[in-house]
Amino acid sequence: GETIRLLSSSQVITSVVSVVKELIENSLDASATGIDIKLENYGFGKIEVRDNGSGIKVDDVPVMAIKHYTSKISSSEDLERLTTYGFRGEALGSICSISEVLVTTKTAADDFSIQYALDSNGHVTSKKPSHLGQGTTVTVLNLFKNLPVRKQFYSTNRKCKEELKKVQDLLTAYGIIKPDLRITLTHNKAVIWQKTRVSDHKMACMSVLGTAVMSSMVPFQHCCEYPEVLEQINLSGFLPKAESDTSLTSLSSSERSFIFINNRPVLQKEILKLIRQYYSQVTQKDCTRLYPVFFLSITVPASAVDVNVTPDKTQVLLHYKESVLLAVENVLKSLYGPLPA
Ligand code: ADP
Ligand code: MG
Repeated sequence: GETIRLLSSSQVITSVVSVVKELIENSLDASATGIDIKLENYGFGKIEVRDNGSGIKVDDVPVMAIKHYTSKISSSEDLERLTTYGFRGEALGSICSISEVLVTTKTAADDFSIQYALDSNGHVTSKKPSHLGQGTTVTVLNLFKNLPVRKQFYSTNRKCKEELKKVQDLLTAYGIIKPDLRITLTHNKAVIWQKTRVSDHKMACMSVLGTAVMSSMVPFQHCCEYPEVLEQINLSGFLPKAESDTSLTSLSSSERSFIFINNRPVLQKEILKLIRQYYSQVTQKDCTRLYPVFFLSITVPASAVDVNVTPDKTQVLLHYKESVLLAVENVLKSLYGPLPA
């Protein structure tokens, strides 16, 4: 049992960034408008995520970190109309089995917050009153304490720095898709990244990508019918302008592309490739080494997407992928012209 538990946990939680991802998704599901992330020693000393969300009800505390407990869905039909990031009840339990976890929480109905210590099975082992306001703080200590090989993998300075960069990229993505979310990232007591609350996606992009980049971008909005189900696909976001003189600011040597499907940051290689193809013909630049910066938000009916394909939910299965790709191509054609035959 212990081995299987460890194996499945290490698939959900592969790195510091996956802990941060799961914890901030929980915060967002709890309607937080502010999230503060604190890391020590690149997250291997400590990862702490504090939110001002709904908090966890006293009755839910004993089960919150039990594998497969989730307060978010109760039937398989709910998966068809999923509006939360979480739905599998796996993250908190997985984190418990590979680290030491403290959860401090207070709902609006509680008089004060309580800090709970959890054991590797997700059971509460002790509790004490605390002084925090409404919301939840999850503290993760000694990550991968029982996975020495995994821990070893991150033992070099370079790996650690890469990991920190990935955390920043992740926060950038959530910062863009959630304009009214305030975020801070602290590493070893210094604030290294932050975003304030703003009113729309444009302001959010300006604050996280910079005003120079945003001045070389154009907004787009495209809506079409999903032929297979007679429902709509909505595309919106910002792409680089079609003038090649702006290409210097809107091209980046590192990946600065942000694709979302139903508000989830996702990896969509085919979409990425399409955008690079279309954009490179305008700029005459080699988009295999310099990447266009863009933000693309795709909204499809919840029933048209399966987010249950990989443990970390970064890969999603679009049931009608061809239609979505076609919609993306239509946007690209209208902006950059057709690809040469
Ligand atoms: P899931 O997100 O799939 O439900 P998790 O293991 O991530 O599973 O979390 C388990 C449960 O703990 C959630 O369903 C939720 O009820 C509660 N929870 C976890 N984090 C928070 C948080 N930051 N605020 C409020 N509730 C939380
Ligand atoms: Mg979750």
